[in-house]
Amino acid sequence: MKVSLVFPPFHHPALYNLPPLGLINLATVARLAGHEAQVIDLILELREGQLPGGQSLYRACAERIAAAKPEVVAFGAQCTTYPPTVHIAREVRRLVPEARIVLGGHNASFVARQTLESFSWIDAVVRGEGEETFGELLDVWARAGTPGGVAGLSWRSGGMIHENPDRPLLDDLNVLPLPDYSLAPALERYRRACGLSRAIAILEVGRGCPHRCVYCSESALWRRRCRTFAVERLVEEMTRLRDLQGAECFLLAYDQFTAERQFVENFCRQVMDAGLHRLGWYCISRLDTVDADLLRLMRAAGCESLCYGIDSGSARTLAFIRKQIDPGQLGQRVRETTAAGIVPTLSFVVGFPEEERVDIDATLLLALQTGIEGNSNPLMQIPTVLPGTELHARYGPRLVREVDSYFAQGIEFDAGRRCREDEELIDSDPLLFSSFYNLPSRALPLPELELLAAEFPVIVNLYPKTFRILCAALETPPSILFVRLRSFARAEAAQGLTPAVCFACFPRFVAGLADQVPGAWRHVFDMLTYESRAIEAARPGAPSAAGNADLSGVSTWRPAVAKNLALAELAFDMEAIVTDLRAGKVRADYPHSPSLLVFRQAEGRLEVSAVNAFAHDLLRRCDGQAVWEDIARSLYARHGAGSGEEQFVSDCRAALMQLRQHQWLSPHPNP
Ligand code: SF4
Repeated sequence: MKVSLVFPPFHHPALYNLPPLGLINLATVARLAGHEAQVIDLILELREGQLPGGQSLYRACAERIAAAKPEVVAFGAQCTTYPPTVHIAREVRRLVPEARIVLGGHNASFVARQTLESFSWIDAVVRGEGEETFGELLDVWARAGTPGGVAGLSWRSGGMIHENPDRPLLDDLNVLPLPDYSLAPALERYRRACGLSRAIAILEVGRGCPHRCVYCSESALWRRRCRTFAVERLVEEMTRLRDLQGAECFLLAYDQFTAERQFVENFCRQVMDAGLHRLGWYCISRLDTVDADLLRLMRAAGCESLCYGIDSGSARTLAFIRKQIDPGQLGQRVRETTAAGIVPTLSFVVGFPEEERVDIDATLLLALQTGIEGNSNPLMQIPTVLPGTELHARYGPRLVREVDSYFAQGIEFDAGRRCREDEELIDSDPLLFSSFYNLPSRALPLPELELLAAEFPVIVNLYPKTFRILCAALETPPSILFVRLRSFARAEAAQGLTPAVCFACFPRFVAGLADQVPGAWRHVFDMLTYESRAIEAARPGAPSAAGNADLSGVSTWRPAVAKNLALAELAFDMEAIVTDLRAGKVRADYPHSPSLLVFRQAEGRLEVSAVNAFAHDLLRRCDGQAVWEDIARSLYARHGAGSGEEQFVSDCRAALMQLRQHQWLSPHPNP
């Protein structure tokens, strides 16, 4: 049969698009069974501008599919793309009435009957693990039979809907053929369309998770059974992806990559033996399944970044969602992960049902603590209710529609808004399209939660230390202080708390609270300066090499401080305060201990160095305008005691040359 496997359209500017591995697996099975299979990635084609946006998109998608003259059209639809899938499928039915239309994927698996009842143009739904079910279905259809014996299938015949029994999960994933990437668009097209610096491939490492988090459809889909592919097979697949498809790094698809230590160690060693460690990879992990040794090994094998699902800082919430992690391990894991050279992404959720404000504040404080540690990437979301989850079963009837969670974004095709027909469809069925709905929260109004989720990570990234001290000084929970900051930013005409807006507004916001900060907490203002200078040091345009041009004959050299350097004169011992904050201690009353600091950002790391008054004064005068000799002479009165002026000027020159060699001054001679 002629089979088109379709990845429905989706567009989120902040997310990139990768080949649809699930559909590639199905296409591989179909081709090996003698069918003609082709993967159509409408996300990619939309990104490439081959499809129009706007109200005509779904029609154009259907025409694109119809042009391939398929006998079977299979959509792989997730929660966000469910409405577009339904609309495009209806158009396909109109354009190619004889083609069979089948849906698969998480969402479809859990709402198969409702889908068939609601949308008469859909012929069948493949539930759960799809390879065997889809293969059998194609064979039955090719023989013009009826699929009554195909386990794992829900299907329509005449006016009847049939739900065949579930199919047992595969005992051994290695019986599946290696995915044939030649059936999908080339990785290079994805790289170019998304403006990525490297071509990324997805590598399916395993399926399943033994845990039972109440919001997770992944573990429900795989019935809480964990299976991995053989390491030898994974290494072979990576090698083929590199050699045949030009893969330059890999996204490891498996929620429990580090669950079995021996498996991970084996994987890392074989990856290194095969020379694949020069390519990067990302994975998902849990705080309780890694340690410093394993992280170092993973880094050596190419791991660049990993994601820890933290969810909450509240023990009550963690018990409610059955997360079974100890957030007390977080600080140490972040330190171990970054020390190994891996960037951790930390995922938090605010607004679970039953949460009180105090639970949300516990999560915000935990997120701030990770910002204080530095070098991690916080993500914050409000809960999404997915079909198949316990949240869906328990709270489905109480869903409301107020704001968009993370998993409701990406189908705003009509000039940044959702098409009217999508809105109508979503409105028509809260259970079928539950990811577009919300759980009411008694802790905070949903719009406030949405803002927290979107913008609190900006504070965590830019000003976690100042914000944390300010909460303590004002005895104000972070959620309330955030609302005050948000109102302040809005009053300054800012639309949202972007990093640039935060950098501009936050210092003024803190200054405006000066009267309310008790005397013992004055170091909060120094911390504000400290963090502001650190941000300034990170601005782009840093020099990349030490100055080595000979300046001996350049009498008019006008030295300039390097762009990635900032200076601060502070009244407290900041090192002691930062050390306390890292240890989770937020104290008032530090003794005065003036310090002169230089902030330098190099190779993604911030260096903070204490300098003496001479070096500080010297650097402060290096503004790119003053000639070096004038700078030196201006410092003589204050720093020249004990040496003659000419000797002092010569010493200053030597000091400047040294600073330039250390890249604290611009490498350009700027004479
Ligand atoms: S959220 Fe993660 S740990 Fe929890 S059940 Fe899902 S995959 Fe497992």
